[in-house]
Amino acid sequence: MSTPLPFQSLATLAARLERRELSAVELMQTLIARTEALEPRVHAFNSRDATDALTQAAASDARRAAGQARGPLDGIPIGLKDVIAVTGQPLTASSKILENFVSPYDATVTRKLKDAGAVLWGRLGCDEFAMGSSNENSAFGPVANPWDLTRVPGGSSGGSAAALAAGEVIASLGSDTGGSIRQPAALCGLVGLKPTYGLVSRYGLVAYASSLDQIGPFGRTTEDVALVLRAIAGHDPLDSTSFKADVPDYRAALAAPAPHRIGIPKEYFGEGLDPEIGAAVEAAVKFYRDRGCEVKEVSLPHTQYCLDAYYVIATAEASSNLARFDGVRYGHRSKAATDAIDLYAKSRAEGFGAEVKRRIILGTYVLSSGYYDAYYLRAQKVRTLIRRDFLRAFEQVDALLTPTSPVPAFKLGEKVDPLAMYLLDIYTIGVNLAGLPAASVPCGFTRAGLPIGLQLIGQPFREADLLALAHIYEQAHEWHARTPQI
Ligand code: GLN
Repeated sequence: MSTPLPFQSLATLAARLERRELSAVELMQTLIARTEALEPRVHAFNSRDATDALTQAAASDARRAAGQARGPLDGIPIGLKDVIAVTGQPLTASSKILENFVSPYDATVTRKLKDAGAVLWGRLGCDEFAMGSSNENSAFGPVANPWDLTRVPGGSSGGSAAALAAGEVIASLGSDTGGSIRQPAALCGLVGLKPTYGLVSRYGLVAYASSLDQIGPFGRTTEDVALVLRAIAGHDPLDSTSFKADVPDYRAALAAPAPHRIGIPKEYFGEGLDPEIGAAVEAAVKFYRDRGCEVKEVSLPHTQYCLDAYYVIATAEASSNLARFDGVRYGHRSKAATDAIDLYAKSRAEGFGAEVKRRIILGTYVLSSGYYDAYYLRAQKVRTLIRRDFLRAFEQVDALLTPTSPVPAFKLGEKVDPLAMYLLDIYTIGVNLAGLPAASVPCGFTRAGLPIGLQLIGQPFREADLLALAHIYEQAHEWHARTPQI
């Protein structure tokens, strides 16, 4: 039986559009119908505009008919996490404080996708301001995991993952500050890539922790991720941390010889790792070894400090970034305020959810005079040590292989303790602190039928190598081709 349309890969659909076997409008209509049927149960979208999507799709068909198609993304429906600005569309960051906010401008990635002809479909739900690992921190209700609707899709880009896993979009964008693309990709059986810090512009991304945030793609395959990455990467004068790097043809690079020295960081296989995940990742290690890769154990000795450093640095930056939501310039404005100070306090108290408040308070504390040196400055020094660990490992190996998440998708409402939630990021956070690229790739299923992901970590700006290495694994396995029964 052939794969149903919503589960065909972006690359397949691009070829079919190109051959005129299918029109962009037909594809969009199929996804709209499916989305309407599934959303009451999946709830991956914060909002969507079917009329607008069909207009974009019709414009794509018109370009193609005129011989002016713009490449593989032309006519492909892509969903954006609701922290990425699109002119004229709501931009809420899943927060009450931005509930009625409509973006007056496009993020750079949005503009690039539009230039490539993609059909932007929906605003995908997430944890409020991208703070969380389960999507349960959204002010608009949690997203369900398509593989088991009683479980979380991961977070914070849970809507981006769930919408793709459910066949409501063909690819999506998320943002990753401590694992928010890779962890939901793992929990939903998808490929997710967090690019090197500086490869993709952050202009128009609602800022959480600016020195860690990166936008990146979700796809069904490494090829799909390669195609979307090519479209969104590249230098942007509007983002001062954007790097002047060449953007290679990542898809063409999939066929090039992949790097062959793989390091297994011993600190990433300890206590707390689910045995079924451990076994699936070990099997992937064996696969690469059997393929002739040189696999060796390496050490990242400061791993145990990653979580602490992250929750100091990320909250400090968040407290500063979120100061702009004051009820004056934009967003929710309290009606109960008596004077200016009261207006700031009440607007913020009413507009932010509990986790966001917790982090603003924590971040303000670690930056306050008297504590700055003890916490923030110290965390920055630890961050340097963590980055050095990775760079030292890369003197011996080309890439690192680890689990993505210590556990598979857990039940909605199961984890109530914030620390238990923070611990889910132990394998992903170091990558953000070090600014490295990393991908999560499907590598199996638990006995209960929940997806498992492996993480490949690469050297700065070597996404092409990373994807080529992942592609070797993907080609020899069928995990990515399974689809959930909803
Ligand atoms: N789960 C982590 C956090 O809560 C990472 C979030 C992210 O990458 N945006 O901060």
